[in-house]
Amino acid sequence: MTTPALPMSPALAGRLAGDPLVLLLDIDGTLSPIAPRPQDAAIAPATRETLAALARLSDVHVVAISGRAAQDAARLVGLDSVWIVGNHGIEIAAPGATPEIHADIARFAEQLSEASTDARAVVEETPGAILEDKRWTLSVHQRLVARDAIAALDARIADIANKHRLALTHGKEVLELRPTVKIDKGTAALELAVRLGALAGGASLLSGGDDRTDEDMFRALRSRESRWVTVHVDGGSVYSTAAEFSVPDPEAMRALLRMVLEQRVARARTVAR
Ligand SMILES: [Mg+2]
Repeated sequence: MTTPALPMSPALAGRLAGDPLVLLLDIDGTLSPIAPRPQDAAIAPATRETLAALARLSDVHVVAISGRAAQDAARLVGLDSVWIVGNHGIEIAAPGATPEIHADIARFAEQLSEASTDARAVVEETPGAILEDKRWTLSVHQRLVARDAIAALDARIADIANKHRLALTHGKEVLELRPTVKIDKGTAALELAVRLGALAGGASLLSGGDDRTDEDMFRALRSRESRWVTVHVDGGSVYSTAAEFSVPDPEAMRALLRMVLEQRVARARTVAR
């Protein structure tokens, strides 16, 4: 059972008031509403403004952590003051920098490219299916596929995973083929938390996500530091989340981030006075 993050309790506000503050935020379904086609997703201008204002504060680090390719995630976020983690942790880019890929991943290039060819053939025979080739992972989107065609699509994509010795994961209306290396949003979130100083005594961390792949992040973070704040964006999901808190939708996530921003700006003014 999660606790509603809003209205924000004094206890929650206190846990988010530390320095530095690290924000680890999924994009689709968390910062932006889910779009039927991934290329149509967009972050609302008010959300982008809030992220930009947070990133401008010297003691706040904003990290967007997505299943999208890092380049695509960076395009959606549209801010070069934000860290970008792409492909569920395989790619990490410092603010404004080129993404670096994890050392264990490069050897999967050929398998992934062959699997992409096979998956494209299946997707072309399945009305509504969309293949998103992110080079280091492949996503097959099912949101627009007829409900009675999903099981067959699942089975054919599972065959491709077996044939090319890739891992298969299931997200919200999406199947993913990926290297059989233990890198996920959990390992990436911990790596960034350490790099950005969230383990320091007075530090705070807030993570937000809406999908099964974000559960890796919630579990990893909660088991490392119980004071770190994990927020699930419910959006009608059916699984039970490992996050401690919840908000109903991306608008509420923006409201929460706005409050965190205002709290820090108000405190800075008090100190300056
Ligand atoms: Mg998401």
